[in-house]
Amino acid sequence: MGFRKKERVQLKTPEQIECMRIAGKVVAETLETLRINVTPGITTGELDVIARECIFSSGATPSFLGYYGFPAVICTSINEEVVHGIPGDKVIAEGDLISIDCGAIVEGWHGDAAISIIASTNPQPTIQKLSDVTRAALDAGIKATVAGNRMGDIGNAIQTVIRNAGNYGIVEDYVGHGIGTEMHMYPPVPNYGRAGDGIELKVGMVLALEPMITIGSPEVVTLEDNWTVVTTDRNWASHWEHTIAITESGPQILTIR
Ligand code: MG
Ligand code: MG
Repeated sequence: MGFRKKERVQLKTPEQIECMRIAGKVVAETLETLRINVTPGITTGELDVIARECIFSSGATPSFLGYYGFPAVICTSINEEVVHGIPGDKVIAEGDLISIDCGAIVEGWHGDAAISIIASTNPQPTIQKLSDVTRAALDAGIKATVAGNRMGDIGNAIQTVIRNAGNYGIVEDYVGHGIGTEMHMYPPVPNYGRAGDGIELKVGMVLALEPMITIGSPEVVTLEDNWTVVTTDRNWASHWEHTIAITESGPQILTIR
């Protein structure tokens, strides 16, 4: 009693990282297809059908479908929805900010990524900035994902971009994660932290970095569907994610085409 097995990081060989790159490519191609299809009038359920076709036609399996009973292939989170929105009859309106989160499995290896898209040719500047800042924070986190750094260096890099950009909230209830033979693995990857804190980053680690940033308070609440996470103050949120491998030559984004 009181004994807990020490959680360990699953380190990958270069060959295993190549397998993960294949899964990551499927995710990236699916998200690119979805990005092109996001337009006012389309439903989130229609986007899910497109994602389903993309993933299965690539010979991959969706990571999310059936995950703790999740009923769809992607998560679609609109405006004040932060993460884990369920695709369905909801129609995307002009100017909406939609984040799409997608995961795929190839030969047992997972890829996981998310993008934010504004359904407009003339987006509101405040909403465009929210998405751009979240994306820039992800990029800064990726740069810090190098062997010899500590976990806190990633969170600190993400947090610094956000704090310097203005009055944004960093969601703390949800964080990034290790990934490999499962979608969610040890260690957690917070989007905040102190440089030099936490476990040491090593070659062979693969981490999903995923800042979730709000305009206003970072407090979130889960809706009655038991999935959809929204901001408590109903201000809008953005979410970007990539799966990153730590290699001898630095961080490599696996979820690209
Ligand atoms: Mg994801
Ligand atoms: Mg993830």
